[in-house]
Amino acid sequence: MRRNRSQTAKRRSHHALTAARLAKCECGALRIPHHACRKCGKYDGRVVIDIVARAKRDARRAKKRQTELRESGQATESTAEKATTAQA
Ligand SMILES: [Zn+2]
Repeated sequence: MRRNRSQTAKRRSHHALTAARLAKCECGALRIPHHACRKCGKYDGRVVIDIVARAKRDARRAKKRQTELRESGQATESTAEKATTAQA
């Protein structure tokens, strides 16, 4: 059965996206409600994420990914440039 424009519009009237509602952390950064802060790693006033360890791990993984790409010969000029700017 063909749907007319009115029926399509009525269905699509529920498709609108709403903006994310963000709460302010005690450190001042915006965070998703009911989630730990990505900036300071705190939830409900106590530290639940080791931010320093996570930063180190992410840096190590990015470096490993770059070396693997370079060894496989897939690394392009732009990605190599990005890696050097990220380190600086
Ligand atoms: Zn925070």
